Amino acid sequence: STKYPEIKRDERFASLTPDHVAYFRRLLGGNGSALIDGVTGEAADDLAPFNSDWMRKYRGHCQLVLKPSSTEEVSKILKYCNDNLLAVVPQGGNTGLVGGSVPVFDEIVLSLGRMNQILEFDEVSGTLVAGAGVILEVADQYLAERGYIFPLDLGAKGSCQLGGNLATNAGGLRLLRYGSLHGTVLGVEAVLPDGTVVDDLSRLRKNNTGYDLKQLFIGAEGTIGVITKVSIQCPQRPAAQNVALFGLASYENCQRAFREAKSQLSEILSAFELMDEGSQALVHQVTGSKRPLESPYPFYCLIETSGSNVDHDSEKLQNFLESVMEQGIVADGTLAQDETQLRSLWSWREGITEALGHLGGVYKYDVSIPLSQMYQLVEDTRARVAEAGLLGDGEEHPVRAVVGYGHMGDSNLHLNISTRRFDARVEQVLEPFIYEWIAERQGSISAEHGLGLAKKKYIGYSRNPTMVGLMKQIKRLYDPKGIMNPYKYI
Ligand code: FAD
Repeated sequence: STKYPEIKRDERFASLTPDHVAYFRRLLGGNGSALIDGVTGEAADDLAPFNSDWMRKYRGHCQLVLKPSSTEEVSKILKYCNDNLLAVVPQGGNTGLVGGSVPVFDEIVLSLGRMNQILEFDEVSGTLVAGAGVILEVADQYLAERGYIFPLDLGAKGSCQLGGNLATNAGGLRLLRYGSLHGTVLGVEAVLPDGTVVDDLSRLRKNNTGYDLKQLFIGAEGTIGVITKVSIQCPQRPAAQNVALFGLASYENCQRAFREAKSQLSEILSAFELMDEGSQALVHQVTGSKRPLESPYPFYCLIETSGSNVDHDSEKLQNFLESVMEQGIVADGTLAQDETQLRSLWSWREGITEALGHLGGVYKYDVSIPLSQMYQLVEDTRARVAEAGLLGDGEEHPVRAVVGYGHMGDSNLHLNISTRRFDARVEQVLEPFIYEWIAERQGSISAEHGLGLAKKKYIGYSRNPTMVGLMKQIKRLYDPKGIMNPYKYI
């Protein structure tokens, strides 16, 4: 990796040989689509998407991609890799934002996309059991047809997979309403590096029989085993959904609006998202879409309600809007009148990641900070980058904008530094400044994206040495040879 020249390939790991490839080919039944082989054949173009991350920031040199279609195949692959000291990177939809899903050197990519079966659904309890390779949006559509909803939603839903969602403990847009995967996931089937199948695919909501080991796989980022199946509790799909977008004059007012939303909308509030003007101007620049509010405001909040009665919910939201405008908390606002408008308002929030990606290199920080201080980080970072002479119009300035947005309802800020190109000077100004800033306020340097390769060095800002020591012991217990997703955070 050019970005981390200090990382050296672990010489304990074997290099792939034609014999290894022949074994995997036999195992996967000679199925051409189950294997991409750059060891004995030319496959550079086919391997490229598996070697490069969504942001095109991290690049590996994998020569072999394996696409098993069953838990048994995953088990045999891992056992062989463990016995032969071949390093492995599990990969789902490859939408992760911390460089965790791509190899650093020549690790084998284990791609779960063919494990894409929905296995069971209980229409009374709402319990879904599915393969790790099911795409989030596909699972949600399946549930929609049966009156249910997947309890997780995020901008990458069209590509990310359930296994990847669990492995990153993805938070997303409706955590405020449905809670984290640590609560909604009922069971996991996973394979350990030595091939052991951990069958903890419980369908039970309550199961207090010893340590809850499945939780370790949620958020482990593929460092202790491969998730092959998921059992998850899905809520009833709300009959009514309403969305409003507000313009606000200050961050102080965003906090007041959040308090009012909790108190006035209470049980129907399902999302409360924050966007600053900088982020919205960039979305506008990329998409060219008409802005939802007439004049620009320093801040915007997107509020979603989900309930069982359209008229009742619309009235509540309308009353809320009137109340916050009368109190001078909100300067202007708009309510979606139909499904098309609802999607369009959401696109101003969901489209930020993608829009920024179009404009050049992005330094991304996904952090948890106490709400009262959350936006201060954006302002302090902007001031620091400007002071260093890096921010401005024109090619001579590498930084185009410093913007903030995120899941305000969960105290989760996405601080993004949009650049014309990645530049070492920018990185030096940002790090460790941002991590120190967060640590001083007892925040978390990774709220929902994980650590991967990007945040590997910085775990100490959010976890003390005892915690890191325990994590290392768990890693050694589950993966004594260290073949699972090496060089990443642990
Ligand atoms: P990958 O990117 O393929 O992998 C991510 C990590 O999980 C890697 O470390 C990989 O090794 C490991 N992994 C993958 N599959 C398995 C498996 N079966 N077993 C074990 N380990 C595995 N994240 C949020 O939390 N909230 C958001 O709101 C959000 N919005 C996003 C919006 C956009 C436009 C994009 C591009 C990303 C967003 N993300 C968000 C980040 C990302 O989508 C999530 O982290 C997602 O859950 C990753 O799923 P994936 O299948 O793409 O996993």
